[in-house]
Amino acid sequence: MFARVAVNVSAISDLFDYAVPVELAAQVQAGCLITVPFGNQTVQGVIIELLDSPQVANPKPILDLLDPSPVLTPPQLGLAMRMADSTLNPLASIISLMLPTGLSQQADILYQTVDNRPQTEEDGLPSSIHGRLLNLLKERGPLRGRQIDSHFAKIDWRKTAGMLVKKGILSARHVLPAPRVRPKFLRVAQLSVPPEEAEAAMDSLGTKQTLARRQAALRFLIQQPDAINLSWVYAETGCKLADLQELEERGLIRLFENEVFRDSVGKIESRGVENREIGNGIKLTPEQESALAQINNSITNHLISNLQYLLYGITGSGKTEIYLRAAEETIKQGKQAIILVPEIALTPQAVRRFLSRFPGQVGLVHSRLSEGERYDTWRRARSGKLKVIIGARSALFSPLPNVGLVVVDECHDSSFYQSEPPYYHAVAAAQEYARLCGAVCVMGSATPTVEQRFQAEHGQLTKLELPRRIVETGLPPVQVVDMREELKNGNRGIFSRALSESLAETISRGEQAILFLNRRGTATYIFCRDCGLVLKCPNCETPLTLHTEEKEKLLCHHCGYTRKLPQTCPACGGKNIRAYGLGSEKVEADVQAMFPNVRTLRWDWDTTRQKDAHEIILTHFANHQADVLVGTQMLAKGLDLPLVTLVGIVLADVGLNLPDPFASERVFQTLTQVAGRAGRSTLGGKVILQTFMPEHYAIQFAAGHDVNGFYERELEYRRQLGYPPFARLVRLEYRHADPLKAEEESQKTATRLRERIAAEKRHQTELVGPVPSFFSKADGVYRWQILVRSPDPVSLLRDFKLRDWRIEVDPISLL
Ligand code: ADP
Ligand code: ZN
Repeated sequence: MFARVAVNVSAISDLFDYAVPVELAAQVQAGCLITVPFGNQTVQGVIIELLDSPQVANPKPILDLLDPSPVLTPPQLGLAMRMADSTLNPLASIISLMLPTGLSQQADILYQTVDNRPQTEEDGLPSSIHGRLLNLLKERGPLRGRQIDSHFAKIDWRKTAGMLVKKGILSARHVLPAPRVRPKFLRVAQLSVPPEEAEAAMDSLGTKQTLARRQAALRFLIQQPDAINLSWVYAETGCKLADLQELEERGLIRLFENEVFRDSVGKIESRGVENREIGNGIKLTPEQESALAQINNSITNHLISNLQYLLYGITGSGKTEIYLRAAEETIKQGKQAIILVPEIALTPQAVRRFLSRFPGQVGLVHSRLSEGERYDTWRRARSGKLKVIIGARSALFSPLPNVGLVVVDECHDSSFYQSEPPYYHAVAAAQEYARLCGAVCVMGSATPTVEQRFQAEHGQLTKLELPRRIVETGLPPVQVVDMREELKNGNRGIFSRALSESLAETISRGEQAILFLNRRGTATYIFCRDCGLVLKCPNCETPLTLHTEEKEKLLCHHCGYTRKLPQTCPACGGKNIRAYGLGSEKVEADVQAMFPNVRTLRWDWDTTRQKDAHEIILTHFANHQADVLVGTQMLAKGLDLPLVTLVGIVLADVGLNLPDPFASERVFQTLTQVAGRAGRSTLGGKVILQTFMPEHYAIQFAAGHDVNGFYERELEYRRQLGYPPFARLVRLEYRHADPLKAEEESQKTATRLRERIAAEKRHQTELVGPVPSFFSKADGVYRWQILVRSPDPVSLLRDFKLRDWRIEVDPISLL
């Protein structure tokens, strides 16, 4: 027997054949985690399939099986292959996403100094790379490459190490670290005879000193139906291990090890879940009924061909209630459900509803789990003990045995896109995975993306609508304030008169306000504060941005056009032309200056670095321990805060003027979501939206809560300029510490690509760039990019050598 194996070696995408040794033949199957020889290393790998005959003569044998059960289910294997192919990521990097950290291990090199070698000049200066390396190894003993990495940020020490190995100063050998995680066991005791028999033995348990303790222990165990932790028995009865061992010796009790699962839910559940069974008593609205009926029909009836839904409903229209009931139906069918949410910490309300509806059956997957908790949640999912997995994008990769439902809540949210290698979109992956599992996929949002709506209109998704809020408040009215007028009237502050007055009223009524600040792209675009004009590139209409290195220079990140920063506005001659910059600290300080007695709370990346900070801030605000919440993007997620009657959008245009075709859509979604936070109860509410460009369509449609209008307009714009969904994009990025090298490599690659496009007669394929990226310098390295636009860019690039390039298929931003 032979096996085709994906090896866990970075950048290797090919599959390799190995022989299955006789002693493992009965155990191995597709999806098993094994170790194999690879070159002169031992590496981990996953069996993709078993074969009768290998593609190479005399393949090497598999060394070891690391886990008796497969670590990937058949649909997961299928998903990994499809994702590797469609996202152009190495297969090993996709498989790594699916294995819990600590279980998957990459091979490494162990370095150590050679003993008894006299100190020589070779040891170098203590400050040189090799001096530092030798010192480190002398101090710490043998270290693995990845451990050494953490001491040499961005310094290439490996070359030096290689040289030292050649000279016999260091030794190096290949190692494969053992998995860091393993099941956890607790020692337990349990009665092993009928209680009467134990009672009968009670008087003959020992001598005077030991009798009382042993009796106490036995009495305690007689009363316990389950196996009890030894530490608990000791605490309750004062007995010792020797006493229990004696009882076992006499055949009265059993001592053994019980596996315990480190639970990811405990902490959240203990923090005030309402035990009251919310929901089951609720009577669904007719719209909810009809949407749920269709979804449930697909769950129970597998012959239906379309199993993918877009649940399009405004905030507060009852989408979560539908997810809950669809999950219930799925469990009834003996299957499991995956619920993806943008970020667990930001959606505690929805998570709690799942926990209380399915007690003991829910697993949470989020970034703050310990390795052990993650591993155990993963194993409980694999064994089918958990019926519902909730989490951010990585929850999709839980190895549930029989997935019947995949929900993506807030499916427009950009956090479903992983914006670092391996780049992938969890919504696309969820759709693909549901197909492979034969499961129903429900994507819910108040503001689906242009592409998701386009899919719905073209039959790939069935649209279900929930057009009304449960509490019939209607959507809050939005007042647009033109900040140019404020300036003309001498108000140079960050709050318009309308906003300050409304704030004062809201607070005096004992209600709450949210002030929203869009931080993305702050202080980068240039506009005239008198007339609102944004300086754009004469070639491609892209907003010009301040060059990060030379302050007075403006740059087009699309075509490379540059110009000097003008002193006066080309349209109105005004002198107030400048970059826009404003932080949430400033907004909070201004509120406090205006209303000294008001309690403010700030919710942004600075205030939420600590563990549980999100929950604490939210709970504080929800309990009305603050009047005004100042926050950034996080406010756009699914919060339900009934006391909030005023939402102030401090500046709506930020982010609108980024050189990115997806900028308008992002701003529209954020504004619409934030506006939806106001007036969620019968108290009503309103939104004040401040802007320097009230005529922009994204602002106008957001002010009118007009999702359909925006969609039509945005789709037309995409059609004219050939952006998705009318073409597909691949963004290629090259990074180098030397700006000239970055440019040179980019030019070379662009030329090679142009040649291939011509040779393959791809007339519909267009190459844009190379140009410096919008954020042209990150972590001290220069970024250059090339954009490929075509009906099928993946086929152009599939076997095109792009070493050291970052490849993003279907990126959600071109910055
Ligand atoms: P969404 O997910 O669309 O924002 P939710 O499902 O959170 O909406 O519903 C908003 C609120 O209305 C929640 O408090 C929920 O418990 C309640 N709710 C949902 N459906 C109903 C219903 N049919 N009748 C009464 N209340 C409902
Ligand atoms: Zn340009």
